[in-house]
Amino acid sequence: LTSKLPKVGTTIFTVMSALAAEKGAVNLGQGFPDFDCDPQLVNAVTDAMQRGLNQYPPMAGVPVLREAVAAKLAALHGRSYDAGSEITITAGATQAIITIILAVVHPGDEVIVLEPCYDSYVPNIELAGGTVVRVPLTPGTFRPNFEKISAAISPRTRAIIVNSPHNPSATVWSEADMRRLQDILAPTNVLLISDEVYEHMVFDADKGQIHQSAARFAGLAARAFIVSSFGKTYHVTGWKVGYIAAPAALTAEFRKVHQFNVFSVNTPVQHGLAAYMADDRPYLDLPAFYQRKRDLFRAGLQNTRFRLLPSEGSYFQCVDISDVSELGEADFCQWLTTEIGVAAIPLSAFYGDGFDQRVVRFCFAKKDETLHLALERLAKL
Ligand code: PMP
Ligand code: GLN
Repeated sequence: LTSKLPKVGTTIFTVMSALAAEKGAVNLGQGFPDFDCDPQLVNAVTDAMQRGLNQYPPMAGVPVLREAVAAKLAALHGRSYDAGSEITITAGATQAIITIILAVVHPGDEVIVLEPCYDSYVPNIELAGGTVVRVPLTPGTFRPNFEKISAAISPRTRAIIVNSPHNPSATVWSEADMRRLQDILAPTNVLLISDEVYEHMVFDADKGQIHQSAARFAGLAARAFIVSSFGKTYHVTGWKVGYIAAPAALTAEFRKVHQFNVFSVNTPVQHGLAAYMADDRPYLDLPAFYQRKRDLFRAGLQNTRFRLLPSEGSYFQCVDISDVSELGEADFCQWLTTEIGVAAIPLSAFYGDGFDQRVVRFCFAKKDETLHLALERLAKL
């Protein structure tokens, strides 16, 4: 058999979680909370199951949940999406992204990714027969370089994938960044795949920082598939439910593939999420919740020789390891997990050529006691 993805092995997240489990290490590698979700959310899903909501939902998702998503986008970003024709519930952001790519990328089309980038994008583009065009984010700051983005656009460019807040660098695009992107895309037909799974984890609101969704910019929204994940927002990464918001014509193409990709997504979880979102808007507490964990973790890291990079959003903290070790990032993460008992992810895993800049990523979506234990171990370095 000739592999369709000859360069792809097991994802770094799976590899590091397995190593952490084997070595009994504190797992700050793979991004997921080690605490449970709100019991009320579990009750809402259980209730839906007990009410017999256990058969196929409509292909695009249960209407109440789509309406809750539309209401949220309108409240937060001032753009109205039609729940019937512009919102679709997906099996997590992962399925949303591959389905978008399969729906819009024709063989030979170019798709721009900004490196470092989430590990599913490139294989997704390759599966669709597209050509990956890699544009580096600025080394050190991970800021977008708009000259390079602009120069990468060709008549064959079908789409660009943008991810803010960013995994792995924890940077957040500003309003000026989004406007710049809008201006660059204005004379083109390039689609925007806006991966906003960390939309509710943007810190430092007192400094005026907010999540700049593509929904806030008319010229971007008109060409954008906005992707999010209930897993990140409600501490239920294992439920694998997310959504896309996109103009009706784009949504129609998305659904053609979605219906044969998964057809539809877990019914009781959708009803449970809708009921939970209707009661209040729990995502509003999320920035403060994670900012406190970020600050706790960063304060502890001051006692180590790691050099801290900014963490503006997401639940990640990157550190430069140069003063701690001579090892390359990937070897350092193996060593740290095995010998020190803390798992991390090397940034090189997010680059096609394995670019090693001696930076590793920690996830701080963990109980305070987990973070304290990890910090105790890291302080020995
Ligand atoms: N995009 C990014 C940037 C992510 O970090 C993740 C989750 N790790 C996903 C997409 C996938 O989200 P989900 O778990 O909802 O499939
Ligand atoms: N998105 C998560 C991360 O970056 C992991 C998801 C996965 O394991 N595929 O850590």
